[in-house]
Amino acid sequence: MRLTFLGTGTSQGVPVIGCRCVVCSSDDPRDKRLRSSALVEVDGHRLLIDAGPDLRQQLLRAGVDDLDAVLLTHEHMDHIAGMDDLRAISFAHEPPKSVDIYADAPTLQAVRRVYEYAFAEHRYPGIPEFALHTIERSSFHVGPVSVTPVEVRHLHLPVRGFRIGGLTYITDAKTIPPAEREKIRGSEVLVLNALRRKEHIAHLNLDEALALVEELRPTRAYFTHISHWMGLHAEVELPPNVQLAYDGLVVDL
Ligand SMILES: [Zn+2]
Ligand SMILES: [Zn+2]
Ligand SMILES: [Zn+2]
Repeated sequence: MRLTFLGTGTSQGVPVIGCRCVVCSSDDPRDKRLRSSALVEVDGHRLLIDAGPDLRQQLLRAGVDDLDAVLLTHEHMDHIAGMDDLRAISFAHEPPKSVDIYADAPTLQAVRRVYEYAFAEHRYPGIPEFALHTIERSSFHVGPVSVTPVEVRHLHLPVRGFRIGGLTYITDAKTIPPAEREKIRGSEVLVLNALRRKEHIAHLNLDEALALVEELRPTRAYFTHISHWMGLHAEVELPPNVQLAYDGLVVDL
């Protein structure tokens, strides 16, 4: 299994428009963070986690020309705003294929609202084709690939994390209920959001993410959904089995 971080930034990305801080001005490519998204490849099957506003650039940069599924964590725009560009995946097939979208019911409701034209009775030619699949609490399959949803909390909003074999990918969590933590245990690779050093009402900060790594004991952990307030990538000190993810980072499991 291969995990590729397509984006590791928080909702505004890094650099932030108009910001002249040391991180936003940095020449280190690891300080340039598109909105959070990841590609998981398992036995030739390609699963995209989240489709934010940088999706087009991310798929071009990673050379992705087809997807077997798109898994959405929640409805916030930094996770769904790029879905119109999924039409390139549809139209790479003849006849065009519907792109399979997996998300919980509230997230799919938001997708229907935001992309209303894709579900209209009289559809304009060339618009995206989505096949929506509702995720419940139990595991589901994308082809032969088993995916277990992990429900975390983003302030009050439920967000889906995903366990796929030895990988658990969680973003936009502030808290993880005890029963859900059991689904994460035994992960070889744990991806968690870590926004910044200071506390935040809806996101784990660095200390909270580190405490979860300590408790859940993955072999390796990577932090994502990072803001410019975290500091320069090169200057964030972490335990040996933990690192800040950066755009383009590839992790093999
Ligand atoms: Zn987000
Ligand atoms: Zn900045
Ligand atoms: Zn969010």
